[in-house]
Amino acid sequence: MKANCWMGKKDVRIQDVPDPQILNARDVIVKITSTAICGSDLHLYNGFVPTMEKGDILGHEFMGEVVEKGEDVKNLEIGDRVVVPFPISCGSCFSCQRGLFSLCENSNPNAWMAEKMWGHSPAGIFGYSHLTGGFAGGQAEYARVPFADFGPIKVPEGLRDEQVLFLSDIFPTGYMGAEMCNIQPGDTIAVWGCGPVGQFAMKSAFLLGAERVIGIDRFPERLKMAREKVGAETINYEEVSPLDFLHETTGGRGPDACIDAVGMESHTPGAVYAYDRIKQSVMAESDRPIALREAIMACRNGGTVSVIGVYGGFIDKFPFGSVMNRSLTIRTGQCHVQRYTRPLLERIQKGEIDPGFVITHTMALDDAPYGYEIFNNKQDDCIKVVLKPHLSPSSRLLH
Ligand code: NAD
Ligand code: ZN
Ligand code: ZN
Repeated sequence: MKANCWMGKKDVRIQDVPDPQILNARDVIVKITSTAICGSDLHLYNGFVPTMEKGDILGHEFMGEVVEKGEDVKNLEIGDRVVVPFPISCGSCFSCQRGLFSLCENSNPNAWMAEKMWGHSPAGIFGYSHLTGGFAGGQAEYARVPFADFGPIKVPEGLRDEQVLFLSDIFPTGYMGAEMCNIQPGDTIAVWGCGPVGQFAMKSAFLLGAERVIGIDRFPERLKMAREKVGAETINYEEVSPLDFLHETTGGRGPDACIDAVGMESHTPGAVYAYDRIKQSVMAESDRPIALREAIMACRNGGTVSVIGVYGGFIDKFPFGSVMNRSLTIRTGQCHVQRYTRPLLERIQKGEIDPGFVITHTMALDDAPYGYEIFNNKQDDCIKVVLKPHLSPSSRLLH
């Protein structure tokens, strides 16, 4: 089959690889109809996540049709359409019983690597380095899905791929980011990053009852989407200081909660950027926590900082004094996707949200290298790329 493989920093290529096989009785093989490129893939693309190997198949947001199943998978039939959550979860371990699905204790065969780096291991993740299991990802024609009797969600008739694909990751992730803010009526929520994850965090903050939502970014098309598709207020951090603006607009108190939807590759026009870039490039810090520092400093006393942007290792100049002295709560995690798939599917069915609003580009899998390039460089007003693995080459680059 064809798959999009990581070949090195800023180098992904479509390659012929062996078809996936059923290895365990709880596996299924999915023929992928739609898959997407995530901001988390960019951290791999830009070489910030260790333990990637040449030839690793990328992709953790995907859906498709069940074409083969192991004998213990009783809840799915050949031909079912399913969306596959990005964390691989057994459904019955200590963590899964507590709804902490991205911390499944049974799905990372390379737990020892993660334990060395982080103390304990999270769950395995599709297409996301050997630290989280070395599983082949879903930017491919087919994928093997372990624990398929637990994670994947059957798509009800009448829903298009574009409406449900993001249940695999970014819709639940944005939703969890907002849910962790414990939003009360009248709350103001500020969101750093108006990428796809930020858009869903903002939208979810409204769904959960926020009164004001303020999105922060520098790309006009992303700010426009936040205003027009989500109803948020926006600020361009290259024009206005987020700290000054948020201070003034909340009468000096600060937003009730701040969401970091940026993660380890944060940018800023100031001198801090050079400081963090240099430290990151010589591996003196692994992540640039610029948005995170700002989110902490902006948050009101006793408020919550919800971190859904991904961090890999160690950060510098972390204002922990501000967190401690001002009674802030920090909440974070890889999304516990399986906790949210069904309730969010219901919201889609009720018409409360159509997650397809973030898609700006749809293309054939063959064009994945181009998709990565424009998504990474924010070219061509690219906000979200969907790849179609079974499109005929003659219908490449839909838009
Ligand atoms: P993206 O790259 O499209 O979006 C990031 C946005 O942050 C960009 O629009 C960028 O301009 C903006 N940004 C950069 N520096 C900023 C700053 N200082 N202030 C404000 N905005 C700034 O990526 P995405 O797909 O939206 O993903 C965002 C983050 O969420 C990534 O770190 C990704 O790894 C993470 N993520 C986490 C989970 C999870 O389970 N926790 C799941 C999916 C994605
Ligand atoms: Zn992702
Ligand atoms: Zn488990």
